[in-house]
Amino acid sequence: MQHCESTQTPEVDIAALRQKYLTERDKRLRPEGQQQYLAAENEFADFYEEDPHLPVTPREALTTDIDVAVLGGGFAGLITAHRLRQAGITDFRIIELGGDFGGVWYWNRYPGIQIDSDSYCYLPLLEETGYMPKEKFSHGDECYEHAQRIGRHFGLYDSALFHTLIRSLEWDEQIQRWRVGTNRGDDIRARFVVMCQGPYNRPKLPGIPGITDFDGQIFHTARWDYAYTGGNLHGGLDKIADKRIAVIGTGSSGVQAIPHLARGAEHLTVFQRTPSYIFERDNHPTDPEWVKTLEPGWRSARQRNFHNAAYAFYSPGEPDLICDGWTEVARNLAAKLDRTDGWAALADPAKFLELKEIEDYRAMERLRRRVEATVEDQATAEKLKPYYRNLCKRPVFNDDYLPTFNRPNVTLVDVSESKGVERISEHGVVAGGTEYEVDCIILASGFEITTSLDRQYDIAPFTGRDGRSLYEHWGKGFRTLHGITAHGFPNIYFTGFIQGGVTAATTLMFEQQADHIAYIITQAHARGATVVEPTAQAEDEWVRTIRANTVDNSTFVTECTPGYYNSEGEPNGRSFLGDPFWGGFYVLEDLLRAWRATGELAGLSLRA
Ligand code: NAP
Repeated sequence: MQHCESTQTPEVDIAALRQKYLTERDKRLRPEGQQQYLAAENEFADFYEEDPHLPVTPREALTTDIDVAVLGGGFAGLITAHRLRQAGITDFRIIELGGDFGGVWYWNRYPGIQIDSDSYCYLPLLEETGYMPKEKFSHGDECYEHAQRIGRHFGLYDSALFHTLIRSLEWDEQIQRWRVGTNRGDDIRARFVVMCQGPYNRPKLPGIPGITDFDGQIFHTARWDYAYTGGNLHGGLDKIADKRIAVIGTGSSGVQAIPHLARGAEHLTVFQRTPSYIFERDNHPTDPEWVKTLEPGWRSARQRNFHNAAYAFYSPGEPDLICDGWTEVARNLAAKLDRTDGWAALADPAKFLELKEIEDYRAMERLRRRVEATVEDQATAEKLKPYYRNLCKRPVFNDDYLPTFNRPNVTLVDVSESKGVERISEHGVVAGGTEYEVDCIILASGFEITTSLDRQYDIAPFTGRDGRSLYEHWGKGFRTLHGITAHGFPNIYFTGFIQGGVTAATTLMFEQQADHIAYIITQAHARGATVVEPTAQAEDEWVRTIRANTVDNSTFVTECTPGYYNSEGEPNGRSFLGDPFWGGFYVLEDLLRAWRATGELAGLSLRA
């Protein structure tokens, strides 16, 4: 549990593989880029707005003035609300579309759902709530329960407004408040707003011709229909024994659900455009002996170690505490540097990238051989091999997925040549000119992550001072101060991947942002200000800081196979990390602390 050795990887012919990677990418690039996806609106609105988990309780529309509206009750919203309360701000509402806290963990309850990232780093507020995850990779229900635990522990339920979807956000200069319009007819006038919608809030659908023609059952993984399949997120899908099921999509969600569907269904057909790269899950229960050794602050040290592996690098002698697929490339490179006494080479960033690239190619080859060794039919195995670089897509961890293709009731259909499924008919799915008749289609097609912001937020109008649209303000790229606040948009704060520092534990980023936001709002109160807004100059300066620290990874990104990570290969697409401060997460942390320590609120203008 403490640390691990390097992973053995095979020799590779990098030049030949690079060529193969480019050929495979080209096969999948679509000229429509992100536009190939359908938004879950109008006739598709239920794919987003309908709650299969809890009934919606009727309530009167609210007309109310509040201090802070926190938009979203997932981990970002919970952390923000907790930090606000810690800072003495109590008049807030957490407005959430789901029927409970949890965000992605409320909505995503598909069979097999599990964290694909170290639970000890990912699950927030562990020390504060006195909770220790049961396993290295928690199952979905543990994550959902942890969100509820945070809600109870910090007394946040009384502030929640569930089953409420924000429709519009308009700054009203006359009352110096945001008018928050919702699907429940509310008129909430909030002095401050904090956007905590998260990156995976809104499902998107594949734009396959004929999608509305299908006569059978159809749903998205993020709105699983257990009334149809039976079972629960641990499996046991006992209502589909006589059903032919199709899954479209083999990303993180598809891969986790597919083994359970294969066990339950009469027949399962998997439509795959790009294979995921699948690391060993190698999950294990939390070792109580290890827990006894933990000193206060252990979690921060672990998160920093994870950050070093993913977004910086280890220092000589630093162990890998995470020990999974996320850290394999860094772990292997560090071991090589130890063996060859090669740490000095890292002084040259180009050399570092070159050495890292070698380990990347070798790790991916190891995973291709894992496919070959697991899947008996070699033609099927070949289709399941990922030909792209590590982190072109989200790594996936699974021990059951690949063996699923050895089952007689499972068919893999490769739709890469046609850049996706050709058509959906009344009776099923058409690919390669063949119609596969099915009773149910499950769309494992992901979320509005790097599609345009108006699609992701789904809030219109979203207007600041003088009726300026946020989508226009950010039309040519993000413009903020510290990734948190924008000129022309008083009293609204953003969390997530915008123009901040990126780290491997996303919830730590939310903590950093929440601390800063709580500080600004408290200071506004203390100074008797009702309006706080960054100056145009401060915003310009932060954009310049971002540009000055930009790391040019455009070659890596454009050579990647398309997906949301690289905006489907669109030349000027938005990165799923936003427009990050590549100076680094911890550099930003020091910078924000120093900014707060001066007490000057530099770059903000305050009005009473
Ligand atoms: P995703 O990674 O975006 O995958 C969407 C899948 O749909 C891809 O396989 C895509 O193929 C396929 N697809 C889209 N249009 C298609 C078409 N027309 N024909 C055939 N296939 C099509 O979505 P996801 O699996 O829901 O995961 C999204 C993100 O959510 C993850 O990357 C992760 O960050 C998060 N997540 C995390 C966990 C976890 O931690 N446990 C679990 C689930 C999700 P291409 O690859 O060819 O585009």
